[in-house]
Amino acid sequence: MSYRHICYDRSVNIFLPALLGIALLILLCAHLLNRKKQAGSEGRVHALETDLARVRSTAETLSKTLSDLRAIHSSEQYAQHIISKLNQGIMYIDQHRAVVFINRYGEQFLHNTETIGKPYTDVLRMTQNGRNDNTLIEEAFSGKSAVFPDGTAIITRSGAVPVSGSVLSVVIDDPGRAVVVAFIDDTVNAEHEKEEKAFFSQTAHELRTPLTVIRLTVGLLLKQYDTLGREKILEHLRRADITAEHLVKLINDFLYMSRIELGRLDIDIKPFDMLKLTDEVVRDLTPLATERKLYLHHDGTDLEYRTVIGDPVRSKEVMTNLISNGIKYTVQGGVTVTHRAKDNMLLTTVADTGAGIPQEFQRMLFRRFTQVGEAREQPTAKSTGLGLYISKKTAQLMHGDVYLESSEPGKGSVFCFTLPLG
Ligand code: ADP
Repeated sequence: MSYRHICYDRSVNIFLPALLGIALLILLCAHLLNRKKQAGSEGRVHALETDLARVRSTAETLSKTLSDLRAIHSSEQYAQHIISKLNQGIMYIDQHRAVVFINRYGEQFLHNTETIGKPYTDVLRMTQNGRNDNTLIEEAFSGKSAVFPDGTAIITRSGAVPVSGSVLSVVIDDPGRAVVVAFIDDTVNAEHEKEEKAFFSQTAHELRTPLTVIRLTVGLLLKQYDTLGREKILEHLRRADITAEHLVKLINDFLYMSRIELGRLDIDIKPFDMLKLTDEVVRDLTPLATERKLYLHHDGTDLEYRTVIGDPVRSKEVMTNLISNGIKYTVQGGVTVTHRAKDNMLLTTVADTGAGIPQEFQRMLFRRFTQVGEAREQPTAKSTGLGLYISKKTAQLMHGDVYLESSEPGKGSVFCFTLPLG
């Protein structure tokens, strides 16, 4: 029995009284015609009126039944139309555990168009955290409706697909129960959840490492203060100080990142001079470059358009990150900043002569906590693996972007920061 049959059966329930009503009406009309011929006298007028009243009442009942039938017929059609178009799978399993209906999404999801009439176990196999398990459906046959727990997947012809959904136990006229299974592909959410879990464990790890270093250093100083000597004590204190600084940077980056992700980062968009802003950043970072015996050049001459639309404070943070990365990952040579206009955008490129980034790591660069290269020994520990992620998101909030233009291991990298021209 298919879903159509179920609708048909219900229609029959309405059709029968309608047909009986029509038959009764025909009989009454014939009877009336007969009576009318005989109705010659006044006494019979009353009987005729009674008969006419009965005909009217039957006709009214009949008309109401027919309009009910029409309404039900069209609502069945609507329901069927809606279910077939639903963006989630719907499967109806009867009390004999055979599939009697599946909508188009369900068929496409299972990659199977031959499910009707088959035992449901042949077409719908569910897994719970990797273990084959149709318990939910079986329990629904004994009356327990339920929502799929986390880790539910359905095995399709192309493998196990994470799903969310529910099973509904349905009471039907025949003895026993039918079951409706509703499901939806949850791959995107499952991946997102996995990524979030990985992120949290990574975050905890990133925070624990510097805290452990600080704790051990302080513990050592407390135990051996009298024997260590001034130089060693200073060395340990410096290390604790650098690690604490790193911890503060990490926490600040987390807070910044969560503000971006919650959509709470204040962005004050206005026109500003990109050349002037780059000059400021270059001036701030020149001492660091000089200390590392690197050059830091900014070439802004001949630039026709220099006004961009963005948040100058946030743009300065992005530029600082890109230029300090260039210095951090360069041993010989230096960093050059240039600008060019293209398609209503100002492209600011930061090119270094440093370590470069291997091809296989390039696509991971803008993910959280990615650290693919060997940063040079830092006077202050500042590597968090969040800088590029934050820079890209910030630039995108200003309708620009940050991306890697090119990179060659051993030769250097070119990063690009774009903003709309004013
Ligand atoms: P951080 O520098 O704090 O580690 P970023 O997100 O700024 O974090 O950078 C992520 C990773 O990308 C770095 O760890 C490094 O491996 C690589 N990287 C970034 N900029 C450069 C660069 N100019 N040259 C080589 N590698 C780079």
